[in-house]
Amino acid sequence: MLYDIRNNIESVRKRIEYAAGMACRRTEDIRIVAITKTVGLEKITEAVNCGIDTFGENYIQEAREKISNLRFQASNPKIKWHLTGSLQKNKVKYAVELFDMIETIDRIELAREIDKKAWNKKIKALIQINIGAEDAKSGCSEKEAVGLIKEISHLKNISIEGLMAIPPFFENPEDARPYFKRLFELSRKIAMEGIDNVSMKELSMGMSNDFEVAIEEGATMVRIGTAIFGKRRINN
Ligand SMILES: *Cc1c(COP(=O)(O)O)cnc(C)c1O
Repeated sequence: MLYDIRNNIESVRKRIEYAAGMACRRTEDIRIVAITKTVGLEKITEAVNCGIDTFGENYIQEAREKISNLRFQASNPKIKWHLTGSLQKNKVKYAVELFDMIETIDRIELAREIDKKAWNKKIKALIQINIGAEDAKSGCSEKEAVGLIKEISHLKNISIEGLMAIPPFFENPEDARPYFKRLFELSRKIAMEGIDNVSMKELSMGMSNDFEVAIEEGATMVRIGTAIFGKRRINN
C-alpha cells in the first residue's frame, strides 16, 4: 500500500512534467495539493516522505486530528495545509488556526468572519468560483466575482492569492477544458482590475481525472486525491 503511494506520486509528477512541457510551462510553477480526506496518517506520512509538502482537507474535524498529529511527528516543518471543503461560519475559528490557506471563500459574510477570527495572522485565501453554475456546488458566480473580491480586499487579515474551482465531472477530461479556460480568463480579468491587496497568481484547478488539462490551461495548484492515495472507500 505504502509502496503504491510512492509509485503513484512518481507517476503523477511525471504526468505533471509532461503536461507542463506541452504547455511550455515550468514544472516548478505547478504545486501538488494532496487531498487527504478519508486518508489515514500512515499514508499521509508516506506522502511527506516522498516530498509532498502541501495537503488539502475538506472537514475541520478530520483535519484537526491529522494536522496536530503530523505537526508533532513530522520532521519537515514546511508542510502546509489548505482547506478545500466548504466552511461554515461557526467553524471559522478552528479553520484559521489549522490552515495556511483557505481555498473556498465564496461570500462576504464568511470572509468577514475569517477576518475577525484571524486577528493575529494573515490568512491566504482563494476565491471559489462556481464555474459550472451548478446548484449543488458552492462558489461565487463568475459575474459576482469582481465585486466580492473588491469587498474582501478591504479586510486586513485576508490576502487573496487567486481562484479555485471544481468544474462539473466528465469522464473525458477534455470536456472540462472550457471550464478551466473560463477560470483562467476570469483570473486575468480580475488581475487587470489592479485591486489593492489582491494577487491572481494562483489558480487551483484540476483533480485526479483532469489535472493535465487543467495544467495546460494554467493551473498552478492541482488538487489530487485518488491518483495518489487510491480510491476512497467513502465517496465525499
Ligand atoms: C476530493 C477532492 C479532490 C480530489 O479528488 P480526486 O478525484 O480524488 O483527485 C480535489 N478537490 C476537492 C475540493 C475535493 O473535494
